[in-house]
Amino acid sequence: MNQHDTDQFKVKAEPFYRVVAGEDELYEAAYARRMPVMLKGPTGCGKSRFVEYMAWKLGRPLITVACNEDMTASDLVGRFLLDKDGTKWQDGPLTMAARIGAICYLDEIVEARQDTTVVIHPITDHRRQLPLDKKGELVDAHPDFQLVISYNPGYQSLMKDLKQSTKQRFAALDFDYPEAAIEADIVAREAGVDGETAKKLVQIAHRTRNLKGHGLDEGISTRLLVYAGQMIAEGVDPVAACQMTLVTPLTDDPDMRQTLQAAVETFF
Ligand code: ADP
Repeated sequence: MNQHDTDQFKVKAEPFYRVVAGEDELYEAAYARRMPVMLKGPTGCGKSRFVEYMAWKLGRPLITVACNEDMTASDLVGRFLLDKDGTKWQDGPLTMAARIGAICYLDEIVEARQDTTVVIHPITDHRRQLPLDKKGELVDAHPDFQLVISYNPGYQSLMKDLKQSTKQRFAALDFDYPEAAIEADIVAREAGVDGETAKKLVQIAHRTRNLKGHGLDEGISTRLLVYAGQMIAEGVDPVAACQMTLVTPLTDDPDMRQTLQAAVETFF
């Protein structure tokens, strides 16, 4: 038996997710075989929302971990803690997910160091086992457990990339900002703005996405468009709303800010 409260990890209400290209059915088929899945795509394009939606649809608990470069294997697997009665083992999120049969979502896995990443190897192949070396325990993954990771190919560099031996444990789905009409629908619905305003926001984003690699690391994401829409829905002047959510977060370069500001003023 495990001591974890599974209910707290259940996705309680249906998250709004607009299916773009049959990715829900592909994911379901992969889940049916408990295949590890990698979601590839730029930041803020719907990867996390998709996992939440699928966890809800499949009725599985979801445990999400935001990965970072300081993360150690113990942060995923668990560690001994000292308390008044001595030492006590505490499962990390990956171990917990393996025990309760959750979907474990490791967001931005590339951020983690490679010695951290390798802990997922034994649990992503036919063994489906997680060794807790420090505790001397081998955890068999619950039959419903699945591992999902996200990966932003834009950040990839020689220094920071997944090893082939890690990559080749996953089936992968490509994500990108959806086509204009769908993205406008998403923004209108998420932010509570009219279709016309949402369409303008998406057009601004398209201009910036063309600047990727020409002074911008990434274009404006769907997430930022939702923020812009939310500010406008709060009654903020659209130009000021866009400046705060689409221009200022994206770059510190004064010339680039001016270019973005001009794009905003073309539409509002
Ligand atoms: P990431 O790809 O970084 O995980 P998120 O899943 O957090 O991005 O998406 C950012 C925001 O964009 C979400 O909060 C949601 O408002 C919106 N979004 C993007 N794509 C979709 C979609 N297909 N359906 C519904 N909302 C979406």
